[in-house]
Formats: sequence, C-alpha cells, structure tokens
Amino acid sequence: MIRFENVSVRYEEDTEPTLRNLDLTVPEGELVLLVGPSGVGKSTLLNAVSGLVPHFTGGTLTGRVTVDGRDTRTHPPRELADVVGTVGQDPSAHFVTDTVEDELAYGMESLGLAPGVMRRRVEETLDLLGLAELRDRPIATLSGGQRQRVAIGSVLTPHPKVLVLDEPTSALDPSAAEDVLAVLQRLVHDLGTTVLLAEHRLERVVQYADQVLLLPDAVMGPPSAVMSVSPIH
Ligand code: ADP
Ligand code: ADP
Repeated sequence: MIRFENVSVRYEEDTEPTLRNLDLTVPEGELVLLVGPSGVGKSTLLNAVSGLVPHFTGGTLTGRVTVDGRDTRTHPPRELADVVGTVGQDPSAHFVTDTVEDELAYGMESLGLAPGVMRRRVEETLDLLGLAELRDRPIATLSGGQRQRVAIGSVLTPHPKVLVLDEPTSALDPSAAEDVLAVLQRLVHDLGTTVLLAEHRLERVVQYADQVLLLPDAVMGPPSAVMSVSPIH
C-alpha cells in the first residue's frame, strides 16, 4: 500500500540526508507504528507519504514513494486527498470551519461528490468516531481528545485508504489518548484502512500496533535502516 524504494531526503545541500536509501513496505490494512528518537526523521518519512515532501516543505527527495500505486512525485497532496489522510500533532492547525459537522464535510468539498453521498459520509463518520452528540458544537469548545477525533474525522470522509498521523496523542491525557487509539484500531479492523503513526512514547501505542518500525538515527550510519518488530499482545 505504501512503498519506499531507495528513498533519500535531504533538506540542505552538503549536509547529511535525513533519510538515506530507505526501502520500506507498509501492507494494506495494518496499523504500523513508527518509533525513534526526536529528530531521527519520523515526520519527514510521514511527509514523504502524504507528498508534503517534496512538494511543500523544501528538501529534495530521490528514489520513489508510491501510495496505492500513485507516485507522490507526480501526484501532489491535493491529488492524494482520496488516498492519504494526514493528521498532525496539533489538531487546531487543521480546522477551517466552526462546527464539528461542517468540519467533517469540508474535506470532501473538492471531490465532486453528490450532496446525498456527502451527508451520508458525515453521518457514518460521526457515528464511527463517537461524535454524533457533538455535531453542532463549535470546535473551539471541545476537549483535546474530542478535537483530535474531529481532525481524524475530517480526513476520513474522503475515504482515504491510508491515514498518516504524526504523534496524534502527544497533547492528550492517557484516557483521551486511549480513545483516539481505539478509534484508529477500529478503522484498521472494520474498514481495512492502513494507518501509519509516528510516536516517541512507544509504551502508549505499542499494544495497538500490528507492526513496529524502529527508525534509528540516520547519522549513525548508512543506510536509514528500518527494523521491524512484531509486538507481543
Ligand atoms: P522527527 O519527526 O523524528 O523528530 P523530523 O523529520 O522532524 O524528525 O526531522 C529530522 C531532521 O530533518 C531534523 O534534523 C530536522 O531539523 C530536519 N528537518 C525537518 N524538516 C525540515 C525542513 N522543512 N527544513 C529543513 N530541515 C528540516
Ligand atoms: P459511498 O461513496 O457510497 O459513500 P464508498 O464506496 O466510498 O461509499 O464506501 C463504501 C463503504 O465504506 C461505505 O458504505 C462506508 O461504510 C465505508 N467507509 C466509511 N468510512 C470509510 C473510510 N474512512 N474509509 C473507507 N471506507 C469507509
């Protein structure tokens, strides 16, 4: 579903690349956890999946990244909205409308869907994320965990096959974090969504993962090795 072939990312010339000759395959319908110390390149890897690297962040990418067969170099992020949904650490950065319901609808606006289809997807997503009772609430009045679920919902309504999340629970208390992770696990199991999640707090997330990828510090030696570990449940 997600494939990296000999991928290197370098932000500045004459410096060490952040990712070096990386090969990686993330299979469909798994929740894959990407761990590694701060600064090792986790966000860079996620941004390469969503196409932000190389289209928006600066940096040069060599090699090939494909998501559901689409090469991210020739498909900028706006052409990947129905394939990859991206959620960052700070959900507030995502929000463009006032209420929960409007926010869930917004992500579909550029897809040219019929109004009835859009309404149905909003309803499904409200139910799936346990947000139905909050539908008319201004997002500004929600808790951190509720906001993070809205951010996830807003990228789910286009029905992406892949969801990429950069430390989505970092601002949350343990119980709100569990709610968000349980939602992600349900997406994987019920809908077959592929979830790639970066986290530096391994202990919080490992029990939800099908696979754990360790990204060691690229400067410790080429190439950027990714070690796969199957968590013991
Ligand atoms: P992590 O998510 O593991 O903390 P990042 O991918 O954010 O790692 O950062 C890896 C390295 O790449 C860091 O040295 C960081 O300074 C550098 N980097 C990340 N994004 C950019 C950017 N847009 N421009 C320049 N350097 C960047
Ligand atoms: P429609 O376009 O009629 O809404 P799709 O063919 O896009 O339906 O989706 C098929 C089914 O997938 C939907 O009935 C819905 O239950 C389910 N679904 C809901 N949310 C998602 C999602 N985020 N990703 C994939 N499938 C989803």
